[in-house]
Amino acid sequence: MNIILFGPPGAGKGTQADNITETFNLYKISTGDLLRDEINKKTNLGERIKSIINKGSFVSDEIINDLIVKILSVQKYYNRLIFDGYPRNLDQAKSLDDLLKKYKQKITCVLCLNVDKDVIIKRILGRRTCTKCGLIFNEYFKPPADAKHICGTKFLTKRSDDNEKTITYRYETYIEKTLPILSYYKKLNLLHEIDGKREINEIFKKISDIIASLEAWLCKFYLYKYRN
Ligand SMILES: [Zn+2]
Repeated sequence: MNIILFGPPGAGKGTQADNITETFNLYKISTGDLLRDEINKKTNLGERIKSIINKGSFVSDEIINDLIVKILSVQKYYNRLIFDGYPRNLDQAKSLDDLLKKYKQKITCVLCLNVDKDVIIKRILGRRTCTKCGLIFNEYFKPPADAKHICGTKFLTKRSDDNEKTITYRYETYIEKTLPILSYYKKLNLLHEIDGKREINEIFKKISDIIASLEAWLCKFYLYKYRN
């Protein structure tokens, strides 16, 4: 079972990725983490990545592919991956297919959390962090007053980059870059779109149902294949 998860910033993708990882015993792969790990390991590749990032440039698809290969070639990750924030463009999606094929795997499903821009803006603008205890609240979805929060409202702050213009820009960039990838996976019959406006638990229930039904199907498929 290899899964790709898409969703605009503020859609709760990170939370869902963690839930899926735990429940279905998968490994979350994000290229951000892979890049950081490689830099921390101080390998040759890591040094190269560090100098690219320090120059303010983007890491090439070729480097990203090298990092993905390192994951695909490890036995414990075999067919147990959930990709978060990757692939970022159509080229990366196509090379991922090739790389997976080389390591005798494929994408089982692509999950996309759909949330309207208005909802995202409301969610992100509502975020409040308590500087005293570090808890995160949301004026709309998890008001500090309801959460038995002992510090009171005195220490609540807004994140400085949480303004409407930045959020709109990030959302639109996401849509523009992601739509071609989604239509690619749709043609391959792998895309499952999920209503991301619902409660976190409801969304996870929906995701679990999709994964469970695919697992059941895969199981039947292999039983059939090996019996015959
Ligand atoms: Zn607090």
